[in-house]
Amino acid sequence: MALIETQPELMARFLHDAAHYPGGHAAGVVRPRTVDDVSEILRQAAARKGPPCWHVLTVGAQSSLTGGATPFGDIVLSTERLTTLQIEGERIRAGAGVTLQAIEDALAAVGCWLPPVPTYLGATAGGAVATCAAGAATFKYGTIRQWVAGITVVLANGDVLELRRGQRQAASLVALPALQMPVVPKCSAGYFIAPDMDLVDLFIGSEGTLGVIAEVVFRTAPLPAARCHALVPVADEDTGIRLVAELRAAAQQTWRTHDANGIDVSAIEHLDARSIAVIREDGIDRKLDITLPSATGIVLLIELELSPSAASADLWQQLETARDDDAADSPLRRLCTLLDRHGALEDAEIALPDNRARAAAFTELREAVPAGVNRRVALAQQQIDPGIYKTAADMIVPFERFDDMMRTCRRLFAERGLDLAVWGHISDGNVHPNVIPKSADDVTRGQAAILALGDAVIAMGGSPLAEHGVGRNQVKQELLRRLYGSTGIDAMRDLKLSLDPHAVLAPGVVFP
Ligand SMILES: Cc1cc2nc3c(=O)[nH]c(=O)nc-3n(C[C@H](O)[C@H](O)[C@H](O)COP(=O)(O)OP(=O)(O)OC[C@H]3O[C@@H](n4cnc5c(N)ncnc54)[C@H](O)[C@@H]3O)c2cc1C
Repeated sequence: MALIETQPELMARFLHDAAHYPGGHAAGVVRPRTVDDVSEILRQAAARKGPPCWHVLTVGAQSSLTGGATPFGDIVLSTERLTTLQIEGERIRAGAGVTLQAIEDALAAVGCWLPPVPTYLGATAGGAVATCAAGAATFKYGTIRQWVAGITVVLANGDVLELRRGQRQAASLVALPALQMPVVPKCSAGYFIAPDMDLVDLFIGSEGTLGVIAEVVFRTAPLPAARCHALVPVADEDTGIRLVAELRAAAQQTWRTHDANGIDVSAIEHLDARSIAVIREDGIDRKLDITLPSATGIVLLIELELSPSAASADLWQQLETARDDDAADSPLRRLCTLLDRHGALEDAEIALPDNRARAAAFTELREAVPAGVNRRVALAQQQIDPGIYKTAADMIVPFERFDDMMRTCRRLFAERGLDLAVWGHISDGNVHPNVIPKSADDVTRGQAAILALGDAVIAMGGSPLAEHGVGRNQVKQELLRRLYGSTGIDAMRDLKLSLDPHAVLAPGVVFP
Protein backbone atom coordinates (compact mmCIF):
# COMPACT_ATOMS: atom_id res chain seq x y z
CA MET A 1 0.00 0.00 0.00
CA ALA A 2 1.25 3.51 -0.78
CA LEU A 3 2.58 5.21 2.33
CA ILE A 4 1.63 8.78 3.23
CA GLU A 5 4.77 10.60 4.35
CA THR A 6 4.50 13.66 6.56
CA GLN A 7 8.10 14.53 7.53
CA PRO A 8 8.28 18.37 7.34
CA GLU A 9 11.59 18.37 5.45
CA LEU A 10 10.16 16.02 2.78
CA MET A 11 6.90 17.97 2.47
CA ALA A 12 8.83 21.25 2.17
CA ARG A 13 10.22 20.00 -1.18
CA PHE A 14 6.74 19.97 -2.69
CA LEU A 15 5.19 23.26 -1.54
CA HIS A 16 6.08 25.43 -4.57
CA ASP A 17 6.07 25.33 -8.32
CA ALA A 18 7.82 27.58 -10.83
CA ALA A 19 4.97 30.13 -10.60
CA HIS A 20 6.03 30.80 -6.96
CA TYR A 21 2.39 30.89 -5.96
CA PRO A 22 2.34 31.91 -2.27
CA GLY A 23 0.88 29.87 0.62
CA GLY A 24 1.55 26.30 -0.53
CA HIS A 25 0.90 23.69 2.19
CA ALA A 26 0.32 19.92 2.12
CA ALA A 27 -1.40 17.26 4.22
CA GLY A 28 1.22 14.67 3.22
CA VAL A 29 3.13 13.20 0.32
CA VAL A 30 2.69 9.85 -1.46
CA ARG A 31 5.32 8.59 -3.87
CA PRO A 32 3.83 5.52 -5.60
CA ARG A 33 6.14 3.10 -7.40
CA THR A 34 3.52 1.38 -9.54
CA VAL A 35 0.18 1.96 -11.22
CA ASP A 36 -1.40 -0.28 -8.57
CA ASP A 37 -0.02 2.01 -5.84
CA VAL A 38 -1.67 5.01 -7.55
CA SER A 39 -4.94 3.11 -7.80
CA GLU A 40 -4.77 2.12 -4.11
CA ILE A 41 -4.23 5.69 -2.88
CA LEU A 42 -7.12 6.99 -4.97
CA ARG A 43 -9.40 4.17 -3.74
CA GLN A 44 -8.55 5.16 -0.17
CA ALA A 45 -9.24 8.82 -0.93
CA ALA A 46 -12.58 7.95 -2.57
CA ALA A 47 -13.58 5.83 0.45
CA ARG A 48 -13.16 8.76 2.86
CA LYS A 49 -16.39 10.61 2.49
CA GLY A 50 -14.85 13.05 5.04
CA PRO A 51 -14.42 15.30 6.84
CA PRO A 52 -11.49 15.40 6.71
CA CYS A 53 -11.71 14.50 2.99
CA TRP A 54 -8.55 13.72 1.09
CA HIS A 55 -7.73 15.91 -1.84
CA VAL A 56 -4.99 14.65 -4.12
CA LEU A 57 -2.73 16.88 -6.20
CA THR A 58 -0.50 15.06 -8.68
CA VAL A 59 2.86 16.71 -9.31
CA GLY A 60 5.75 16.01 -11.66
CA ALA A 61 8.73 18.38 -11.74
CA GLN A 62 6.59 21.30 -10.49
CA SER A 63 7.76 23.50 -13.36
CA SER A 64 4.18 24.72 -13.78
CA LEU A 65 3.94 28.45 -14.50
CA THR A 66 0.33 28.63 -13.26
CA GLY A 67 0.40 27.43 -9.64
CA GLY A 68 -1.30 24.22 -10.80
CA ALA A 69 1.41 22.15 -9.08
CA THR A 70 1.25 24.03 -5.76
CA PRO A 71 -0.67 22.11 -3.05
CA PHE A 72 -3.21 23.87 -0.85
CA GLY A 73 -3.75 21.32 1.92
CA ASP A 74 -3.80 18.42 -0.57
CA ILE A 75 -2.00 15.12 -0.33
CA VAL A 76 0.75 15.54 -2.92
CA LEU A 77 1.01 12.54 -5.24
CA SER A 78 4.54 12.82 -6.57
CA THR A 79 5.33 10.82 -9.71
CA GLU A 80 9.08 10.86 -9.01
CA ARG A 81 9.21 7.08 -8.49
CA LEU A 82 7.20 6.22 -11.63
CA THR A 83 10.32 6.01 -13.74
CA THR A 84 10.10 3.01 -16.05
CA LEU A 85 11.43 3.76 -19.55
CA GLN A 86 11.39 1.50 -22.57
CA ILE A 87 11.84 2.01 -26.30
CA GLU A 88 9.35 -0.09 -28.25
CA GLY A 89 10.18 0.17 -31.97
CA GLU A 90 9.22 3.69 -33.06
CA ARG A 91 7.57 4.44 -29.71
CA ILE A 92 8.78 5.08 -26.21
CA ARG A 93 6.91 4.07 -23.05
CA ALA A 94 7.67 6.28 -20.06
CA GLY A 95 6.51 6.31 -16.45
CA ALA A 96 4.85 9.64 -15.57
CA GLY A 97 7.88 10.79 -13.56
CA VAL A 98 10.49 10.32 -16.30
CA THR A 99 11.98 13.66 -17.31
CA LEU A 100 11.86 14.84 -20.91
CA GLN A 101 15.66 15.08 -20.78
CA ALA A 102 15.86 11.33 -19.98
CA ILE A 103 13.48 10.63 -22.88
CA GLU A 104 15.55 12.82 -25.23
CA ASP A 105 18.78 11.06 -24.14
CA ALA A 106 17.31 7.57 -24.59
CA LEU A 107 15.94 8.47 -28.02
CA ALA A 108 19.11 10.23 -29.20
CA ALA A 109 21.02 6.99 -28.62
CA VAL A 110 18.83 5.35 -31.30
CA GLY A 111 18.76 8.35 -33.67
CA CYS A 112 15.28 9.55 -32.70
CA TRP A 113 13.62 12.41 -30.81
CA LEU A 114 10.34 13.66 -29.39
CA PRO A 115 9.86 16.88 -31.39
CA PRO A 116 7.30 18.94 -29.40
CA VAL A 117 9.12 19.02 -26.03
CA PRO A 118 8.80 22.30 -24.10
CA THR A 119 11.80 24.52 -23.43
CA TYR A 120 12.22 23.10 -19.91
CA LEU A 121 13.55 19.53 -20.26
CA GLY A 122 13.38 18.88 -16.50
CA ALA A 123 9.56 18.61 -16.90
CA THR A 124 8.14 15.10 -16.66
CA ALA A 125 6.29 12.97 -19.21
CA GLY A 126 3.14 13.07 -17.06
CA GLY A 127 3.34 16.84 -16.47
CA ALA A 128 3.93 17.61 -20.14
CA VAL A 129 0.90 15.53 -21.13
CA ALA A 130 -1.26 16.87 -18.28
CA THR A 131 -0.62 20.46 -19.48
CA CYS A 132 -0.55 19.64 -23.22
CA ALA A 133 2.87 21.27 -23.37
CA ALA A 134 4.28 22.66 -26.59
CA GLY A 135 7.76 23.61 -27.67
CA ALA A 136 9.70 25.72 -30.12
CA ALA A 137 9.27 23.11 -32.86
CA THR A 138 5.47 23.02 -32.50
CA PHE A 139 5.30 25.08 -35.72
CA LYS A 140 6.39 22.03 -37.71
CA TYR A 141 5.50 19.14 -35.39
CA GLY A 142 2.42 20.15 -33.38
CA THR A 143 2.04 19.93 -29.59
CA ILE A 144 2.63 16.98 -27.30
CA ARG A 145 -1.01 15.94 -28.02
CA GLN A 146 -0.16 14.76 -31.54
CA TRP A 147 2.67 12.61 -30.15
CA VAL A 148 0.76 10.73 -27.45
CA ALA A 149 -0.05 7.24 -28.74
CA GLY A 150 -1.49 6.05 -25.45
CA ILE A 151 -1.74 6.61 -21.71
CA THR A 152 -2.41 4.66 -18.55
CA VAL A 153 -4.67 6.82 -16.42
CA VAL A 154 -6.06 6.20 -12.95
CA LEU A 155 -9.51 7.69 -12.32
CA ALA A 156 -10.59 9.30 -9.04
CA ASN A 157 -12.32 6.05 -7.95
CA GLY A 158 -9.09 4.08 -8.47
CA ASP A 159 -10.11 2.44 -11.77
CA VAL A 160 -7.21 2.02 -14.19
CA LEU A 161 -7.77 2.77 -17.90
CA GLU A 162 -5.21 1.53 -20.43
CA LEU A 163 -5.96 3.74 -23.42
CA ARG A 164 -4.53 3.51 -26.91
CA ARG A 165 -5.35 6.18 -29.45
CA GLY A 166 -8.01 5.08 -31.93
CA GLN A 167 -9.60 2.46 -29.65
CA ARG A 168 -12.18 4.35 -27.60
CA GLN A 169 -14.14 7.56 -28.01
CA ALA A 170 -14.47 10.02 -25.12
CA ALA A 171 -18.27 9.97 -25.44
CA SER A 172 -18.23 6.34 -24.21
CA LEU A 173 -17.10 7.59 -20.78
CA VAL A 174 -18.50 11.12 -20.37
CA ALA A 175 -21.11 13.45 -21.84
CA LEU A 176 -19.18 16.01 -23.88
CA PRO A 177 -20.19 19.68 -23.71
CA ALA A 178 -20.94 21.47 -26.99
CA LEU A 179 -18.00 23.87 -26.92
CA GLN A 180 -16.11 25.29 -29.90
CA MET A 181 -12.35 25.54 -29.30
CA PRO A 182 -10.38 28.31 -31.04
CA VAL A 183 -8.60 27.13 -34.20
CA VAL A 184 -4.95 27.80 -33.31
CA PRO A 185 -1.83 25.59 -33.24
CA LYS A 186 -1.99 25.24 -29.43
CA CYS A 187 -4.68 25.79 -26.85
CA SER A 188 -4.17 24.67 -23.26
CA ALA A 189 -7.46 26.08 -21.95
CA GLY A 190 -9.51 23.70 -19.85
CA TYR A 191 -10.67 20.45 -21.39
CA PHE A 192 -10.07 19.52 -25.03
CA ILE A 193 -13.46 19.15 -26.70
CA ALA A 194 -14.04 18.09 -30.32
CA PRO A 195 -16.66 16.02 -32.16
CA ASP A 196 -15.99 12.25 -32.07
CA MET A 197 -12.84 12.84 -30.04
CA ASP A 198 -10.62 10.09 -28.73
CA LEU A 199 -10.71 9.37 -25.00
CA VAL A 200 -6.91 9.84 -24.84
CA ASP A 201 -7.45 13.50 -25.82
CA LEU A 202 -9.77 14.17 -22.89
CA PHE A 203 -6.95 13.55 -20.39
CA ILE A 204 -4.27 15.45 -22.33
CA GLY A 205 -4.27 18.99 -20.95
CA SER A 206 -6.67 18.18 -18.08
CA GLU A 207 -4.07 19.37 -15.50
CA GLY A 208 -4.55 16.50 -13.05
CA THR A 209 -8.27 17.22 -12.52
CA LEU A 210 -9.71 14.17 -14.33
CA GLY A 211 -7.23 11.43 -13.44
CA VAL A 212 -3.61 10.60 -12.67
CA ILE A 213 -1.57 9.85 -15.79
CA ALA A 214 0.69 7.03 -14.63
CA GLU A 215 2.36 6.08 -17.91
CA VAL A 216 2.61 7.54 -21.43
CA VAL A 217 3.45 5.96 -24.80
CA PHE A 218 4.86 8.57 -27.21
CA ARG A 219 5.37 8.34 -30.94
CA THR A 220 8.86 9.42 -31.92
CA ALA A 221 10.54 10.76 -35.08
CA PRO A 222 13.95 10.15 -36.65
CA LEU A 223 16.37 12.98 -35.85
CA PRO A 224 16.71 15.43 -38.77
CA ALA A 225 19.85 14.85 -40.86
CA ALA A 226 21.21 18.22 -39.72
CA ARG A 227 20.08 21.56 -38.28
CA CYS A 228 21.38 25.11 -38.69
CA HIS A 229 20.58 27.81 -36.15
CA ALA A 230 20.36 31.47 -37.10
CA LEU A 231 20.35 34.45 -34.76
CA VAL A 232 18.82 37.35 -36.65
CA PRO A 233 18.59 40.86 -35.18
CA VAL A 234 16.00 42.92 -37.10
CA ALA A 235 15.66 46.70 -36.90
CA ASP A 236 11.96 46.84 -36.02
CA GLU A 237 9.15 44.54 -34.95
CA ASP A 238 6.94 45.07 -38.03
CA THR A 239 9.78 44.05 -40.37
CA GLY A 240 10.49 41.05 -38.12
CA ILE A 241 6.86 39.92 -38.33
CA ARG A 242 6.84 40.24 -42.15
CA LEU A 243 10.05 38.22 -42.31
CA VAL A 244 8.52 35.49 -40.13
CA ALA A 245 5.40 35.43 -42.35
CA GLU A 246 7.60 34.75 -45.39
CA LEU A 247 9.63 32.10 -43.57
CA ARG A 248 6.44 30.35 -42.46
CA ALA A 249 5.06 30.36 -46.02
CA ALA A 250 8.37 29.09 -47.44
CA ALA A 251 8.52 26.27 -44.88
CA GLN A 252 4.91 25.23 -45.51
CA GLN A 253 5.66 25.08 -49.23
CA THR A 254 8.74 22.93 -48.59
CA TRP A 255 6.67 20.48 -46.52
CA ARG A 256 4.16 20.24 -49.37
CA THR A 257 6.66 19.87 -52.21
CA HIS A 258 9.52 18.05 -50.39
CA ASP A 259 11.89 20.35 -52.30
CA ALA A 260 15.40 19.37 -51.09
CA ASN A 261 16.54 22.99 -51.54
CA GLY A 262 13.47 24.46 -49.83
CA ILE A 263 13.54 26.37 -46.55
CA ASP A 264 12.47 23.85 -43.90
CA VAL A 265 12.04 25.88 -40.71
CA SER A 266 10.92 23.94 -37.63
CA ALA A 267 10.96 26.82 -35.12
CA ILE A 268 11.25 30.60 -34.87
CA GLU A 269 11.57 32.10 -31.39
CA HIS A 270 11.68 35.82 -30.71
CA LEU A 271 12.77 38.44 -28.19
CA ASP A 272 11.47 42.02 -28.27
CA ALA A 273 13.41 45.25 -27.67
CA ARG A 274 12.81 45.25 -23.87
CA SER A 275 13.94 41.61 -23.67
CA ILE A 276 17.11 42.64 -25.51
CA ALA A 277 17.60 45.46 -22.98
CA VAL A 278 17.35 42.86 -20.16
CA ILE A 279 20.07 40.84 -21.91
CA ARG A 280 22.28 43.92 -22.18
CA GLU A 281 21.65 45.05 -18.58
CA ASP A 282 22.66 41.55 -17.39
CA GLY A 283 25.74 41.43 -19.66
CA ILE A 284 24.58 38.20 -21.33
CA ASP A 285 25.44 39.38 -24.87
CA ARG A 286 29.00 40.19 -23.79
CA LYS A 287 29.36 36.91 -21.88
CA LEU A 288 28.24 34.91 -24.93
CA ASP A 289 30.11 37.15 -27.37
CA ILE A 290 26.95 37.88 -29.34
CA THR A 291 26.70 41.22 -31.12
CA LEU A 292 23.28 42.85 -31.17
CA PRO A 293 23.26 46.19 -33.05
CA SER A 294 21.99 49.12 -30.98
CA ALA A 295 19.01 49.60 -33.30
CA THR A 296 17.65 46.08 -32.81
CA GLY A 297 13.85 46.00 -32.42
CA ILE A 298 13.42 42.22 -32.39
CA VAL A 299 15.72 39.18 -32.40
CA LEU A 300 14.64 36.05 -34.25
CA LEU A 301 16.11 32.63 -33.50
CA ILE A 302 15.51 30.37 -36.49
CA GLU A 303 15.97 26.61 -36.63
CA LEU A 304 16.48 25.29 -40.16
CA GLU A 305 16.33 21.55 -40.84
CA LEU A 306 18.33 20.09 -43.72
CA SER A 307 17.45 17.02 -45.76
CA PRO A 308 20.14 14.29 -45.97
CA SER A 309 21.23 15.50 -49.43
CA ALA A 310 21.37 19.17 -48.36
CA ALA A 311 23.22 18.19 -45.18
CA SER A 312 25.94 16.33 -47.07
CA ALA A 313 26.87 19.40 -49.17
CA ASP A 314 29.68 21.79 -48.26
CA LEU A 315 27.70 24.12 -46.00
CA TRP A 316 30.65 26.45 -45.31
CA GLN A 317 31.04 27.00 -49.00
CA GLN A 318 27.29 27.66 -49.36
CA LEU A 319 27.37 30.22 -46.59
CA GLU A 320 30.45 31.95 -47.98
CA THR A 321 28.95 32.26 -51.45
CA ALA A 322 25.28 32.76 -50.48
CA ARG A 323 25.26 36.30 -51.90
CA ASP A 324 26.96 35.50 -55.18
CA ASP A 325 24.66 35.74 -58.18
CA ASP A 326 25.90 32.45 -59.59
CA ALA A 327 25.79 30.50 -56.30
CA ALA A 328 24.06 27.13 -56.50
CA ASP A 329 20.55 26.79 -55.16
CA SER A 330 20.41 25.45 -51.57
CA PRO A 331 18.32 25.91 -48.39
CA LEU A 332 21.03 28.16 -46.91
CA ARG A 333 21.18 30.33 -50.01
CA ARG A 334 17.40 30.71 -50.02
CA LEU A 335 17.42 31.59 -46.31
CA CYS A 336 20.15 34.20 -46.84
CA THR A 337 18.30 35.69 -49.83
CA LEU A 338 15.12 35.99 -47.77
CA LEU A 339 16.95 37.62 -44.84
CA ASP A 340 18.69 39.99 -47.25
CA ARG A 341 15.35 41.08 -48.73
CA HIS A 342 14.36 42.31 -45.26
CA GLY A 343 17.72 43.97 -44.56
CA ALA A 344 18.49 41.34 -41.91
CA LEU A 345 21.38 39.38 -43.45
CA GLU A 346 24.21 41.75 -42.53
CA ASP A 347 23.75 41.31 -38.77
CA ALA A 348 22.64 37.66 -38.84
CA GLU A 349 24.85 34.91 -37.43
CA ILE A 350 24.33 31.36 -38.68
CA ALA A 351 25.63 28.36 -36.71
CA LEU A 352 26.23 25.38 -38.99
CA PRO A 353 25.29 21.88 -37.73
CA ASP A 354 28.77 21.07 -36.42
CA ASN A 355 28.87 24.25 -34.32
CA ARG A 356 26.82 22.99 -31.38
CA ALA A 357 28.50 25.40 -28.95
CA ARG A 358 27.23 28.40 -30.90
CA ALA A 359 23.70 26.97 -31.18
CA ALA A 360 23.79 26.42 -27.39
CA ALA A 361 24.87 30.06 -26.91
CA PHE A 362 21.82 31.24 -28.91
CA THR A 363 19.58 29.10 -26.68
CA GLU A 364 21.30 30.48 -23.57
CA LEU A 365 20.65 34.02 -24.81
CA ARG A 366 16.96 33.24 -25.23
CA GLU A 367 16.65 31.53 -21.85
CA ALA A 368 18.42 34.44 -20.12
CA VAL A 369 15.35 36.62 -20.76
CA PRO A 370 12.72 34.77 -18.66
CA ALA A 371 15.42 34.13 -16.04
CA GLY A 372 16.37 37.85 -15.97
CA VAL A 373 12.74 39.00 -15.77
CA ASN A 374 11.93 36.48 -13.00
CA ARG A 375 14.98 37.68 -11.05
CA ARG A 376 13.79 41.30 -11.32
CA VAL A 377 10.32 40.30 -10.08
CA ALA A 378 11.82 38.40 -7.11
CA LEU A 379 14.08 41.36 -6.22
CA ALA A 380 11.20 43.82 -6.38
CA GLN A 381 9.18 41.48 -4.15
CA GLN A 382 12.02 41.40 -1.57
CA GLN A 383 13.06 45.04 -1.75
CA ILE A 384 9.90 46.98 -2.62
CA ASP A 385 6.70 45.15 -1.72
CA PRO A 386 5.87 41.48 -0.90
CA GLY A 387 2.67 42.04 -2.93
CA ILE A 388 4.71 42.10 -6.15
CA TYR A 389 4.67 38.86 -8.17
CA LYS A 390 5.03 37.47 -11.67
CA THR A 391 2.45 39.02 -13.99
CA ALA A 392 2.61 37.24 -17.32
CA ALA A 393 0.40 36.08 -20.16
CA ASP A 394 0.51 33.24 -22.69
CA MET A 395 -1.53 34.28 -25.73
CA ILE A 396 -1.88 32.87 -29.23
CA VAL A 397 -3.67 34.11 -32.35
CA PRO A 398 -3.83 32.78 -35.93
CA PHE A 399 -0.54 34.10 -37.35
CA GLU A 400 -2.36 36.39 -39.82
CA ARG A 401 -3.53 38.41 -36.76
CA PHE A 402 -0.13 38.48 -35.02
CA ASP A 403 0.69 42.10 -35.90
CA ASP A 404 -2.81 43.18 -34.70
CA MET A 405 -2.24 41.35 -31.43
CA MET A 406 1.16 42.97 -30.91
CA ARG A 407 -0.18 46.48 -31.62
CA THR A 408 -3.04 45.91 -29.16
CA CYS A 409 -0.66 44.42 -26.60
CA ARG A 410 1.75 47.38 -26.77
CA ARG A 411 -1.14 49.88 -26.49
CA LEU A 412 -2.83 48.17 -23.51
CA PHE A 413 0.34 47.91 -21.43
CA ALA A 414 1.63 51.39 -22.41
CA GLU A 415 -1.73 53.01 -21.49
CA ARG A 416 -1.20 51.63 -17.99
CA GLY A 417 2.39 52.88 -17.81
CA LEU A 418 3.85 49.36 -17.53
CA ASP A 419 7.39 48.17 -18.23
CA LEU A 420 6.80 45.20 -20.56
CA ALA A 421 9.05 42.52 -22.03
CA VAL A 422 7.62 40.17 -24.67
CA TRP A 423 9.12 36.96 -26.00
CA GLY A 424 7.79 33.70 -27.32
CA HIS A 425 7.21 31.24 -30.09
CA ILE A 426 6.53 33.66 -32.94
CA SER A 427 6.26 30.92 -35.58
CA ASP A 428 3.09 29.73 -33.78
CA GLY A 429 1.74 33.25 -33.16
CA ASN A 430 2.33 32.63 -29.42
CA VAL A 431 3.70 35.33 -27.08
CA HIS A 432 4.52 35.69 -23.39
CA PRO A 433 4.04 39.36 -22.40
CA ASN A 434 5.67 39.82 -18.96
CA VAL A 435 5.40 42.91 -16.75
CA ILE A 436 8.57 44.04 -14.97
CA PRO A 437 6.75 45.46 -11.95
CA LYS A 438 8.03 48.28 -9.74
CA SER A 439 5.04 48.23 -7.36
CA ALA A 440 2.06 46.12 -6.31
CA ASP A 441 -0.04 48.60 -8.34
CA ASP A 442 1.87 47.52 -11.45
CA VAL A 443 0.73 43.96 -10.74
CA THR A 444 -2.92 45.05 -10.54
CA ARG A 445 -2.63 47.17 -13.69
CA GLY A 446 -0.77 44.35 -15.44
CA GLN A 447 -3.58 41.90 -14.63
CA ALA A 448 -6.12 44.37 -16.05
CA ALA A 449 -4.01 44.70 -19.23
CA ILE A 450 -3.80 40.89 -19.55
CA LEU A 451 -7.58 40.53 -19.24
CA ALA A 452 -8.13 43.28 -21.85
CA LEU A 453 -5.58 41.64 -24.16
CA GLY A 454 -7.32 38.30 -23.59
CA ASP A 455 -10.62 39.82 -24.78
CA ALA A 456 -8.89 41.15 -27.92
CA VAL A 457 -7.18 37.80 -28.58
CA ILE A 458 -10.49 35.93 -28.24
CA ALA A 459 -12.10 38.42 -30.68
CA MET A 460 -9.25 37.69 -33.14
CA GLY A 461 -10.06 33.96 -33.02
CA GLY A 462 -7.16 33.15 -30.71
CA SER A 463 -6.75 31.63 -27.26
CA PRO A 464 -5.68 33.63 -24.16
CA LEU A 465 -4.28 30.34 -22.80
CA ALA A 466 -1.85 28.75 -25.25
CA GLU A 467 0.55 26.30 -23.64
CA HIS A 468 1.00 26.77 -19.87
CA GLY A 469 -2.52 25.77 -18.83
CA VAL A 470 -4.78 27.47 -16.27
CA GLY A 471 -3.75 26.11 -12.88
CA ARG A 472 -4.70 28.11 -9.78
CA ASN A 473 -3.95 31.46 -11.39
CA GLN A 474 -7.04 33.63 -10.90
CA VAL A 475 -6.40 35.75 -13.99
CA LYS A 476 -6.03 32.61 -16.13
CA GLN A 477 -9.21 31.14 -14.62
CA GLU A 478 -11.01 34.38 -15.53
CA LEU A 479 -9.53 34.23 -19.06
CA LEU A 480 -10.93 30.70 -19.38
CA ARG A 481 -14.36 32.02 -18.32
CA ARG A 482 -14.15 34.80 -20.92
CA LEU A 483 -13.17 32.25 -23.60
CA TYR A 484 -16.09 29.87 -22.99
CA GLY A 485 -18.54 31.92 -20.88
CA SER A 486 -19.95 30.88 -17.50
CA THR A 487 -22.13 28.25 -19.21
CA GLY A 488 -19.06 26.70 -20.82
CA ILE A 489 -17.27 26.60 -17.47
CA ASP A 490 -20.29 24.99 -15.80
CA ALA A 491 -20.33 22.36 -18.56
CA MET A 492 -16.63 21.60 -18.03
CA ARG A 493 -17.17 21.43 -14.26
CA ASP A 494 -20.08 18.97 -14.78
CA LEU A 495 -17.78 16.83 -16.92
CA LYS A 496 -15.20 16.79 -14.11
CA LEU A 497 -17.78 15.92 -11.44
CA SER A 498 -19.12 13.05 -13.54
CA LEU A 499 -15.67 11.42 -13.24
CA ASP A 500 -14.73 12.76 -9.80
CA PRO A 501 -18.00 13.36 -7.87
CA HIS A 502 -16.27 14.25 -4.58
CA ALA A 503 -13.74 16.58 -6.29
CA VAL A 504 -10.84 14.60 -4.84
CA LEU A 505 -8.47 15.46 -7.70
CA ALA A 506 -6.83 18.89 -7.75
CA PRO A 507 -9.63 21.05 -6.34
CA GLY A 508 -9.04 24.73 -7.19
CA VAL A 509 -7.04 23.89 -10.34
CA VAL A 510 -8.60 25.06 -13.66
CA PHE A 511 -11.86 26.12 -11.92
CA PRO A 512 -12.19 28.45 -8.91
C1 LIG B 1 11.99 27.67 -17.62
C2 LIG B 1 10.65 27.14 -18.05
C3 LIG B 1 10.35 27.04 -19.40
C4 LIG B 1 9.11 26.54 -19.82
N1 LIG B 1 8.86 26.43 -21.15
C5 LIG B 1 7.68 25.90 -21.57
C6 LIG B 1 7.41 25.74 -22.96
O1 LIG B 1 8.21 26.07 -23.82
N2 LIG B 1 6.22 25.20 -23.32
C7 LIG B 1 5.30 24.79 -22.39
O2 LIG B 1 4.25 24.28 -22.76
N3 LIG B 1 5.53 24.93 -21.06
C8 LIG B 1 6.68 25.46 -20.63
N4 LIG B 1 6.93 25.60 -19.28
C9 LIG B 1 5.91 25.15 -18.30
C10 LIG B 1 6.14 23.71 -17.79
O3 LIG B 1 7.46 23.31 -17.95
C11 LIG B 1 5.27 22.73 -18.51
O4 LIG B 1 3.92 23.05 -18.23
C12 LIG B 1 5.51 21.26 -18.10
O5 LIG B 1 4.86 20.46 -19.03
C13 LIG B 1 5.05 20.86 -16.72
O6 LIG B 1 5.64 19.59 -16.38
P1 LIG B 1 5.94 19.20 -14.87
O7 LIG B 1 6.42 17.79 -14.82
O8 LIG B 1 6.82 20.20 -14.23
O9 LIG B 1 4.48 19.27 -14.24
P2 LIG B 1 4.04 19.98 -12.91
O10 LIG B 1 4.44 21.41 -12.93
O11 LIG B 1 4.46 19.19 -11.74
O12 LIG B 1 2.45 19.89 -13.05
C14 LIG B 1 1.76 20.66 -13.98
C15 LIG B 1 0.27 20.33 -13.94
O13 LIG B 1 0.06 19.00 -14.38
C16 LIG B 1 -0.49 18.18 -13.35
N5 LIG B 1 0.23 16.90 -13.41
C17 LIG B 1 1.57 16.70 -13.33
N6 LIG B 1 1.85 15.41 -13.50
C18 LIG B 1 0.67 14.77 -13.70
C19 LIG B 1 0.31 13.41 -13.93
N7 LIG B 1 1.23 12.43 -14.00
N8 LIG B 1 -1.00 13.11 -14.06
C20 LIG B 1 -1.95 14.08 -14.00
N9 LIG B 1 -1.66 15.37 -13.77
C21 LIG B 1 -0.36 15.72 -13.63
C22 LIG B 1 -0.28 18.95 -12.07
O14 LIG B 1 -1.30 18.64 -11.12
C23 LIG B 1 -0.33 20.38 -12.54
O15 LIG B 1 -1.66 20.81 -12.66
C24 LIG B 1 8.16 26.11 -18.83
C25 LIG B 1 8.47 26.21 -17.48
C26 LIG B 1 9.70 26.70 -17.08
C27 LIG B 1 10.00 26.77 -15.61
